[in-house]
Parts: sequence; structure tokens; C-alpha cells
Amino acid sequence: MKIKTFVVGPIFTNCYLVWCEKTRQAIVIDPGFTNMEDGQPVLKAIKEKNIRVKYIVITHGHFDHTGGIRILKNITGAKVLVHEKDAEFLPEPWKGIKELINKDKQIPCLACGSLSLHLKIAEDNKKARVLCEDCGMHIEFFSSPSADKRIKDGEIIEFGDCKLEVIHTPGHSRGSISLYSAEEQVLFSGDTLFAGSIGRTDIFNSSYEEIMNSLKNKLMELPDNTVVYPGHGDATTIGRERKNNPFLV
Ligand SMILES: [Zn+2]
Ligand SMILES: [Zn+2]
Ligand SMILES: [Zn+2]
Repeated sequence: MKIKTFVVGPIFTNCYLVWCEKTRQAIVIDPGFTNMEDGQPVLKAIKEKNIRVKYIVITHGHFDHTGGIRILKNITGAKVLVHEKDAEFLPEPWKGIKELINKDKQIPCLACGSLSLHLKIAEDNKKARVLCEDCGMHIEFFSSPSADKRIKDGEIIEFGDCKLEVIHTPGHSRGSISLYSAEEQVLFSGDTLFAGSIGRTDIFNSSYEEIMNSLKNKLMELPDNTVVYPGHGDATTIGRERKNNPFLV
């Protein structure tokens, strides 16, 4: 199993190209780029390495992990896989923000912490924009095609001779998943586990209790030498996090 990491999109998401060397079959995990230019390094690698992308696998439905699905699917024809509980986000990645605003909950700006965020959804419902009135921070959200398949805990994703097992790790979102191979000793943890930190649980449909349960009873059960590829930031290992992660020690 070969892995190449690309940092993409407005909040530096790790997009992983994972492929079977023998058969050149691949998956792309979390294409978070929002335009052709940002996605170019990923597309170029697929072409140069002569790889066929079989699946686009989404660790969870947040916009920073889904922005490039439409572009990548159009070019590669790959099938989109997402956990059943996060599938609703794909056509409407701004859904969480919309529901919080509808409930009159205030959401702090990612950049300055101000509570003056505004959401504007395009009339065709294909795009939306969040703007902070105080610091000018703005993020665009792009609607994605719906999932080709909704996946569940325990399913195996196969590409060439490679296999990854779906582990449902809810908490950061209801449908967050991690992808694991015991044979290759790798885990793709999405926004559930980071080097030295864990995913946010102060957002729509997130739960601190659930993420701690996913971490302690699922991910921390894996062997120490498992290499962890998270949704943001540097790779780490289960052993290192077990010893040093302030949320887990
Ligand atoms: Zn997330
Ligand atoms: Zn993220
Ligand atoms: Zn701001």
C-alpha cells in the first residue's frame, strides 16, 4: 500500500492518495480542495503514476473534506463512499452551520472568534458562503454529488490487493469513520484523532462523550506501532498518542 499526502483547501486538510502498487488501483481519502488549481497536485499525481481511482472515501461530511468530490468524480469516475450518518452533508455541506443559525446558536469565527458570521446560500442551492463581518474571513462551500454507497462499521474497502476496514468513530460528527489496515499497520483517522489533539466537539451533531468513547474503546485498542494519518496536521502513531496526547493520558 502506497500513501501520498496532499495538504489542500482553506483549512489545510490532508488529502490522501492511497494505491496498490501492483494493480495501480487507488482510493482518494478526503479531497478537500475547492478548485482545479488547489486540486492540481492530486490530479497530477494520479496521472503521472498511472493510477485508476476506484473510490473517493470521505472520513466525514465536513466541507473541508468534501469540497473536491465533484471535480475528482468528474475526472476519474470514481464512486463516492461515505458513512450513512454523514451522507446528508454531501449535497449541502453548509447544513450544520445553517441549522445552528436557525436555532439562534452563535458560532464563533474560525479566524477571529467574533460571533458575527453570516451564511448566504446561492439560489440554485449549489454553493454557499460564510462571511465574518468583523475580520472579513470568508469560506465558500460547494455542493457535492450524493454518495454512490453509504458505508457502515466493519465494511472492507478493497482496491487492488489492498484492503481498509471501516471503523465507525462518531463524536466529531455522527458519521465520522476511521480506515484501518492491520496488515499495513496504518490508520486514517479523519478529524477524530490528531497528533497531540482530538477533533472538535463544539459543532453541529458532535459529542465529546462519543468521541472519547470512539478513541478509548476503538482507536486506542489498536497496536502501538500503527501509523496514524489524521485529517489535519502531521502523522503520528497510536503508541505516541497513548503516551502523550493530553486528551488520552
Ligand atoms: Zn471535521
Ligand atoms: Zn477537518
Ligand atoms: Zn472573523
